[in-house]
Amino acid sequence: MANWDRNKNILLELVKLPNNSRCADCCAPDPDWASFKLGIFVCLNCSGTHRNLPAISRIKSIRLDNWDDDLVQFMKANGNAAARNIYEASVPVFYYTPQHQDCTVLKEQWIRAKYERREFTAESTPFQRTYAAEVYEGSLWKKGKDNKHFLKRRFLLSQKDFTLKYFTKEDQSKMPKAVIAVKDLNAVFQPEKIGHMHGLQISYVQEDHTRNLFVYHDNGQEIVSWFNAIRAARFAFLKMAFPGANESELVPLLTRSYQKEGYMEKTGPMHWELFKKRWFILNSKDRKLLYFKTPLDAVELGVIFIGSESHGYSVKECLPRGTRGNKWKCGVTMDTPDRQFIFMCEQEREQKEWVAAFQKVIARPMLPQDYATEASLRRRR
Ligand SMILES: [Zn+2]
Repeated sequence: MANWDRNKNILLELVKLPNNSRCADCCAPDPDWASFKLGIFVCLNCSGTHRNLPAISRIKSIRLDNWDDDLVQFMKANGNAAARNIYEASVPVFYYTPQHQDCTVLKEQWIRAKYERREFTAESTPFQRTYAAEVYEGSLWKKGKDNKHFLKRRFLLSQKDFTLKYFTKEDQSKMPKAVIAVKDLNAVFQPEKIGHMHGLQISYVQEDHTRNLFVYHDNGQEIVSWFNAIRAARFAFLKMAFPGANESELVPLLTRSYQKEGYMEKTGPMHWELFKKRWFILNSKDRKLLYFKTPLDAVELGVIFIGSESHGYSVKECLPRGTRGNKWKCGVTMDTPDRQFIFMCEQEREQKEWVAAFQKVIARPMLPQDYATEASLRRRR
């Protein structure tokens, strides 16, 4: 009979090694579980996905379960680095590798792509050709612009002319409803906001306004493929637009999540105006604070540019005297060269998070393109 205590201690030592001390799939610290079929250490969350794939992975707790000698030997001989060499041998540079903070569908599909479909083993390339194909097309459920209904729409992403088009009719000989330049495209998973596990927000800039499309696909693999196809198209476009740039400089530009989103109250330019509840999105890369009437609006109501400290921008937690008409009590005051903005948060925690997020942007020096954005937003007012 195996010596359970000794085996557990061997595993507890193994999981401390640098390569094993983070989940093999999402990099969460201190994994407590192991797949004894793949020889990897994973977090509780990822172990749940592995349990759903019994043909390729088998899970045990390294603390709560008893381990036989041969399984412990197998874990010792393999481990996270060895598995990565096999299952992540050829991950395309544009492919999004999720972290533990990411949404469930991204993490689940990453695990399935690696071990179930073996998309990234040395001998496997057909999947990568699919993502980076000249034309990527399919149907997605898209939220109507002025209502809550999701309707099936045909989408077509092309690397021939670097556009994303969608069609209201199945017949594609008709004019597309929108032709979106890949240059201005962003995609970010938003399951909570959209109310669907596979909800994806696609944003682009049109005539100086940010437009949002809210889509999902019932199949998790499909929606993650769309996300990576958009990243592949953006990567091909950026390589062409910036021929001298390193790939590592372009990858962070492929898709960008927002620094912070949520409700705050704001007034118009006159402080005696009533505060109105608005949905805010901070796009820190472009130094833009967008606000909308509701979280799922297609177009923003307005944009506030956030410059740098040396350019006259500052933010603090406070409420100027005489402020009235606000329901919420936690104030954020932002001074800009043009005017003062007052935002009200419902809770102190949100107030602190918003101030910290704004301060991060303000502390960063402005780049030449930021001055152009500031000037164009001033013209719009
Ligand atoms: Zn994990």
